[in-house]
Amino acid sequence: MKNSLLDLSFDEIENLVTSYGEQKFHAKQIFNFVMNGKEIEEMTSLSKPFREKLLAEYVSNPVSIIKDIKSADGTIKFLFKLLDDNVIEGVLMKYKYGNTLCVSSQVGCRMGCKFCASGLNGLVRNLTKAEILGEVIAVNKFLGGSNENRKITNIVLMGSGEPLDNYDEVVEFIKTVSSKQSLNISQRNISLSTCGLVDKIKKLADDGLSITLTISLHAPNDLIRNQIMPISKKYSIKELIESAKYYFEKTGRRVVFEYAMIDGVNNNLDCAKQLKQLIKGFSAHINLIPLNSVKERGLVGASKHQVYWFRDKLEEFGLSATVRRTMGDDIDGACGQLRNKYLKNS
Ligand code: SAH
Repeated sequence: MKNSLLDLSFDEIENLVTSYGEQKFHAKQIFNFVMNGKEIEEMTSLSKPFREKLLAEYVSNPVSIIKDIKSADGTIKFLFKLLDDNVIEGVLMKYKYGNTLCVSSQVGCRMGCKFCASGLNGLVRNLTKAEILGEVIAVNKFLGGSNENRKITNIVLMGSGEPLDNYDEVVEFIKTVSSKQSLNISQRNISLSTCGLVDKIKKLADDGLSITLTISLHAPNDLIRNQIMPISKKYSIKELIESAKYYFEKTGRRVVFEYAMIDGVNNNLDCAKQLKQLIKGFSAHINLIPLNSVKERGLVGASKHQVYWFRDKLEEFGLSATVRRTMGDDIDGACGQLRNKYLKNS
C-alpha cells in the first residue's frame, strides 16, 4: 500500500525532497499542490523523473471520491475510498451563506445509538488527521476550488463516527484545516457533534479551540436516553449538561443540542417540560430533527406536524429551538445510510 503525501508535515516533505536529491524549494510547491488536491501526475512543475520517484511510493490524497449523488435540493452525497479500501461518506450542503461539508471521523462507530446506521457494523477503525482533511480537499477540488479560492466555507464533524472517540486525530485535523498554510477555514465555522463523551467535552473546552460544540441529546432524561443511546449508561444526563455548561464558560461559545424526534419515544408534552427543566437558564440552542427512519432499527420519525408542535412548546417555555431543514432525504442523507447500502451491495 502506498503512503500519502498529505500524511507528511512540511518538514517531512522537505526531508523527502532532499532525500531524492532535489532542491528544498520544491517542498513548498508540493505542500501547496497537496492542499489543492492535485494528484502527483498533475504536479507538472516538478520534473518527470522526480514525479516518477514520488509516484512509486506515494499518492497525494489518501481519500478519493468513488461516487457522488446529487439531491434535488443541491445536496451532494459522497462515497470516499481510503487507501486500505475502506469506504466512508460525506455530505455537501449548499446554503445561502456558503457550502457546508459534513465529514466522517471514523470508519463505522462503536457508540451503538439505536437510531443510527453508522454503528450497525461496529467500529472498523479511526480515521487519521490526513484522511479527515483528505475528505475536505477532495470535495474542494471536486467543486473546482483551491486553497486560495475555497469552495467549502463550513465544516461539520457530523458524518459517520464519534469524533471525540478519535480525539487526537480530530483535534489535529481541526488545527490543520483552520491554519493559514492549509485551507484556512475558521474554527468558528467548524462544528463538532458528539453523543456525549463527558470527559472529552471537558478536555475540548480546556484545549482552547473555538469551534461550536453540538451535543446529540435526543432525550430529556436518563430513562429514555438509556433506551436509545448506550453512552448514557456511562455518563448521566446531569453530568452531560454540566460538561456543556463548562464548555460554554470556558469558550463563550453557545452549545447546540440536537434532538432527533422519534415517534412515541421522546416527543410528548412531558418530554418538552423536562427539557425545559434541564436547559433553562443556560444559553443553548435546541435543533430539532425529524428522525430519518432507519429500517434496520425499527424506529420511526415523528411527523412534521409533531416536530413543529414540539418546537412551539419549547419556545413557549422560553427555550431557543429550531427545526433543522432535512436535506438530501432522497439520497440516504442520514449518518451511515449510504455506506451501509454500499456494503450490502458489494
Ligand atoms: N457521533 C456524533 C456525530 C455523528 S451523528 C454524534 O452522535 O453526535 C450526527 C447527528 O445525526 C447526531 O446528532 C446523530 O444523533 C444524528 N442521527 C444519527 N442517525 C440519525 C437518523 N437516523 N435520523 C436523524 N438524525 C440521526
